[in-house]
Amino acid sequence: MSKKLLLKNAHIEGIRYFETYRKHGGYEAAEKALKMTPDEILEEVKTSGLRGRGGAGFPTGMKWSFLAKPEGVPRHLVVNADESEPGTFKDRYLMEFLPHLLIEGMLISSYCLGSNVSYIYIRGEYSWIPDILEEAIEEAKAAGFLGKNILGTGFDLEIYVQRGGGAYICGEETALLESLEGKRGNPRLKPPFPAVKGLWERPTVVNNVESIAAIVPIIDITGAEYAKIGVGRSTGTKLISACGNINKPGVYEIDMTITVEEFIYSDEYCGGIKDGKRLKACIPGGSSVPIVPANLLLKTVNGEPRYMNYESLADGGFATGTMMGSGGFIVLDEDQCVVEHTMTLARFYNHESCGQCTPCREGTGWMYKILKKIENGQGKMEDIDLLWDIQRKIEGNTICPLGDAAAWPVAAAIRHFRDEFEWHVKNPELCLTQNYGLANY
Ligand code: SF4
Repeated sequence: MSKKLLLKNAHIEGIRYFETYRKHGGYEAAEKALKMTPDEILEEVKTSGLRGRGGAGFPTGMKWSFLAKPEGVPRHLVVNADESEPGTFKDRYLMEFLPHLLIEGMLISSYCLGSNVSYIYIRGEYSWIPDILEEAIEEAKAAGFLGKNILGTGFDLEIYVQRGGGAYICGEETALLESLEGKRGNPRLKPPFPAVKGLWERPTVVNNVESIAAIVPIIDITGAEYAKIGVGRSTGTKLISACGNINKPGVYEIDMTITVEEFIYSDEYCGGIKDGKRLKACIPGGSSVPIVPANLLLKTVNGEPRYMNYESLADGGFATGTMMGSGGFIVLDEDQCVVEHTMTLARFYNHESCGQCTPCREGTGWMYKILKKIENGQGKMEDIDLLWDIQRKIEGNTICPLGDAAAWPVAAAIRHFRDEFEWHVKNPELCLTQNYGLANY
């Protein structure tokens, strides 16, 4: 059984409210942290090996150490709660059921970074959650954990919740900052990075909800103890939101030592494939990461088990592996059509492109049209090569990672499931009524 750090109290009735949260050890890590120096907290976070839980997996302590500290210029912490990646809903779970864990993590992180005004930027579709967060903020303030002179330390902190308008691109940190400033959420060219010029051109750290929540157990048990959980550079625990053709969709906390097979088939997690069907493929880290066929998902190319961690999932690069990404684990059974699935994603990325760069603006629409043709039995063999060509020209040639996110699923689908694309072209009538299925692999 995986160790629980973030969700250990999630089952307790009323844990959403300050009184219950406090009764079960809430804000003790904050009390401890406020007796430490900001540098000591930073060292704990670095020692913990925590990697950003939003998708990129960049070491959080290192990110914090890049924060510029010019004299007299305010600094900010911005929590990225714009969880819009299809298949990812673990931050929603944290905010909905454990809002004080996020607030406590923000208090410790803001104190460490020297931010007296911090923000939670939340996607517009999570319409009911800002009220939960604002209630938690008021409760924390009434108890002296927010506001002026927190616990007599002289440290002040205000937290504001800002609702987004529902654009996927606002999950990209610079687009998020533009939106937070009241402008259209277009990504900025980097450099300068937000750590130097972020919100209102002030030094800013943007971190994912889960990353900031994880600061609480790191301070609680120490960075060294946190680093002992997990394996290699995949330290601590990770929330995975599992969905698709499984028996038990939901949010699970894993310690990154379990195998993918165990995660899918164990009753503790996904509980196996729905209706006793067979596993066809999986997208283990949210819709942007490459799809992986079952044979490569359960075993590496060397025949070793594949583990639910950053290194093992990425083993072999995009040729064989995939990425941990945001932890949005999407499972496809034997009846799912990879062409249709890829087409749906292409439509999504085309719709969400901000339109600033030509490869993304034009390429995503072009890919969607070709995939639609193939899916509807009107494709030609050369369309598959054209599709391959287009995704190659998008990847690495855009301002922000949305271009890559749109290209990778198409590349992986063609790489691993080319037969299925060709079957659609060769069987234009059959593909309208039947799926390629698993038997053909
Ligand atoms: Fe906009 Fe796409 Fe360019 Fe990102 S890659 S800046 S979403 S056009």
